[in-house]
Amino acid sequence: MAEESSHEIDMLLGRMKSATSPLREILRELHSRLSGNHAGTVADYIPELATANPNSFGLALCTADGQIVEVGDCGTQFTIQSVSKPFMFGLAIEDHGVDHVLTKVGVEPTGEAFNAIVLDEVSNRPYNPMVNAGAIATADLIQGKDYPERVKRMVDLFSKFCGRDVFVDNSVFMSERLTGHRNRAMAHLMRNFGMMGERFEEALELYFQQCSILVTAHDLAIMGATLANGGVNPITKTRALQSENVKYLLSIMMTCGMYDFAGEWAFRVGIPAKSGVAGGIVAVVPGVLGIGLYSPRLDAKGNSVRGVEACKELSQRFGLHAFESHFSGEKLMDLFALKRGR
Ligand code: GLU
Repeated sequence: MAEESSHEIDMLLGRMKSATSPLREILRELHSRLSGNHAGTVADYIPELATANPNSFGLALCTADGQIVEVGDCGTQFTIQSVSKPFMFGLAIEDHGVDHVLTKVGVEPTGEAFNAIVLDEVSNRPYNPMVNAGAIATADLIQGKDYPERVKRMVDLFSKFCGRDVFVDNSVFMSERLTGHRNRAMAHLMRNFGMMGERFEEALELYFQQCSILVTAHDLAIMGATLANGGVNPITKTRALQSENVKYLLSIMMTCGMYDFAGEWAFRVGIPAKSGVAGGIVAVVPGVLGIGLYSPRLDAKGNSVRGVEACKELSQRFGLHAFESHFSGEKLMDLFALKRGR
């Protein structure tokens, strides 16, 4: 009898779960199907990154009003790497205004690799803030009376976006600064052209630190949702960025966020996004939601293989492409509304 009623309760709970969370089922199916994709390789040019579990895979969605649905390894920590770049660009804009920032770093996509040692020949600026040279020039712009204060402002920025205190992974940071010779070369080149000031070595350190912040797929979804919500974290209600500056992050993500795949990404997926070499991707559907992904196996362009596939499918299935004009399929927000029982 007791067994029978506990069986009934399990059945009921099972029914409730699937009835209240159709979106979770969709994501679960996507997650389990893509888990079978073992293509790509974990980055190892920063030795510490090679220690990641290649099978980890987390997929999280967070709406602009703070509802979260996630599947897989969404609590696994990894370093944010280049996903940090648009956020630091935002902080530099808040510190100096967009016009001054653009005297130091351009906003043109480049067909070059993210770590190319190249500057615009006319202006001596790095091409954009998503390539390493541009991100180092951006780090140089972060204000603070001394280095600790600059680091604190950077950490506070990511803490506001994530809605919790974030920390730097010291072993990755040390690994980056010991092996970051190309990044050093870029900083020296920019110093040579007077594009970076006296504190250029500090800017490099700050850049290595920002790349080594530990996040999860859950965090990335909330960071994306914060941008989708005009700069206010929808969970904590704390403002992380002025709303008038959000568009600058999103447009640079749309044009330059996915390494040398940025053009095809904008064409096929049509969602502003940024990926990093540890395997994270943040994607933003403005006004709607943020998507956080983690899977460390990268394709030849440096993007997470499963992350790219997941975004392609989500974009197609739910008509998330920015330039979608007559989508008649399933509405993603209706599924969230169902979850809340509205
Ligand atoms: N810290 C990495 C580097 O400087 C970031 C690269 C990336 O994620 O694209 O090489």
